[in-house]
Amino acid sequence: MNDKASQLDDLARSLHDCSRCSLSETRINIVVGSGSPDAPVMFVGEAPGYNEDVQGLPFVGAAGRLLDELLKEILGLTRDAVYIANVLKCRPPENRDPTALEVETCRPFLLRQVDIISPRIVCALGNFATRTLTERREGITKLRRKVIKAGGRYVFPMFHPAAALHRGDLYEDVRLDFVTLKKFLDSPELSEEAVGQDSSQMELF
Ligand code: URA
Repeated sequence: MNDKASQLDDLARSLHDCSRCSLSETRINIVVGSGSPDAPVMFVGEAPGYNEDVQGLPFVGAAGRLLDELLKEILGLTRDAVYIANVLKCRPPENRDPTALEVETCRPFLLRQVDIISPRIVCALGNFATRTLTERREGITKLRRKVIKAGGRYVFPMFHPAAALHRGDLYEDVRLDFVTLKKFLDSPELSEEAVGQDSSQMELF
C-alpha cells in the first residue's frame, strides 16, 4: 500500500464509530470517501444522501450517475481515477442542510483528505463545499468556474450535479463547468504564480 493510501486508511480508522456530532445517532454508515489516493482531481460534495448512507460510498445515487457520466464524457476519467468525498461524512436526516456546527466538526477531516491526496485541483460541488473550502461568502453562481487559491490549494467551485437533476435548464451550465475544468487540467502552465496568494482568484477561459 502506498503512503497516501495508508494515511487515508488511518484517517478512516480515526472516524470509525465517530460520535463527534448528533448525525451519528441517525446515520447508517460513515461515508469517508472513495477513489485514487494519487488522484489529480478531487471532488467535494455536500453530504451523503440515502443511497450513500446505505452503501457507505459517496455519490452512488442519481447525482453520482450524472457525475460519472460527465467525468467519462468530458474528462475521459472513471471515478477510480479521481477522489470523491463530502464536507459531511454522515447523512443529515431527511437530507436537510448541514448545520454550521456539523460543518465545523467535520471540516478537519476533509482538509486532512485534501492534504493527503494533494490533488492539482479541488472541485467544490455547490455552495456548502465552496464555502467550507474557500471561506468565501458569495454564492456558487458568482464563484463557479473561477480558480480560487485557498489554504494553499487551487479550489474550483462548480455547480453541484444535483442542480441539473432539480432544474433541467441548468444541465448545460453543469456541463460547462466540467468543460472549463478540463481546460485547466490540460494547461500545465497554470502555475502557482498564475493564481497567486491565498484568497486571490483567476478567471478561467
Ligand atoms: N450529494 C452529495 O453532495 N454527496 C453525495 O455523496 C451524494 C449526493
